[in-house]
Amino acid sequence: MTAGAWYTLCMDADGESRLREQIMHRLMVVTARNGGSITRGELAAFDLGDGRTRRLIDHSRGIWNPRDLSATLAIVSSPDGPYADEEVDGGLLRYDYRAGTDAGDNTKLRVAAELGLPLILLRKIDTGVYVPVFPVYAVDDDRANRRFLIALDEGLRFLRDPRHLTEDQRRYARRIARQRLHQPEFRGRVIRAYGTSCTICSLRHGELLDAAHIVPDSHQTLGQPVVRNGLSLCKIHHAAFDEHLLGITPDYEVRINADLLDEVDGPMLKHGLQEMHGQSLHLPAARRDWPDRDRLAHHWDDFLRAS
Ligand SMILES: [Zn+2]
Repeated sequence: MTAGAWYTLCMDADGESRLREQIMHRLMVVTARNGGSITRGELAAFDLGDGRTRRLIDHSRGIWNPRDLSATLAIVSSPDGPYADEEVDGGLLRYDYRAGTDAGDNTKLRVAAELGLPLILLRKIDTGVYVPVFPVYAVDDDRANRRFLIALDEGLRFLRDPRHLTEDQRRYARRIARQRLHQPEFRGRVIRAYGTSCTICSLRHGELLDAAHIVPDSHQTLGQPVVRNGLSLCKIHHAAFDEHLLGITPDYEVRINADLLDEVDGPMLKHGLQEMHGQSLHLPAARRDWPDRDRLAHHWDDFLRAS
């Protein structure tokens, strides 16, 4: 296809910017509703919220270059995939060229880098399940190493030399990777394991659910962001758990702080907290995802001390 023919297929720059904005806004709403993740099926016919649908993922490839857009819209990054994408210095994401020539699928990602267009990064957390991270930006086309570098936030877009970060930049990039990549992945995995519901009260609204750490991530040995160190909790039960107003025994039973049990207040205290005392957790379908008893014991000790 000639360049002229290609450009007539593409919408104008304003139209494309507006469309990207609309897609990302809608993706934020849908992902929140789902509890942080989205399925391949939802991405293949993504509901734009105005009666239209649009594909946000390729049939089989890890890069989605819609015909009518000038640049790549989404890239998939899977830790177990054939393309060895991994974080560089914990901050910028390395995205390897597609196999074969330097052109082809890579051309439109190069355009995204040149025009500074926002992209959607789809982090694969399970078969056909993704945690979308957006907007991200291709900031460096490293032809010698056949890879792009992807900035995970606006603040990392304008690095003078993305291939050689200073110590300060590296520290910042690592913090951003934690916020934009690792925490959302943890959230997506945990809430999905619990079937998008609160393990205590079964509330099923993804927007109101958090992935709580059982042992805080500051803890050296037990604090890892793994599903077995997580609980899917609604906002109120998450706060009550963190504040030790609510505890969970290593045998998966809920206990309410003794002082709180005696209090008299409105329906939230009565139904939302006091009536949960003695209830069993609603555990994930897969046993491998059940919360780790040792980690629960760790938190339970803190609850007993605080009571
Ligand atoms: Zn709850």
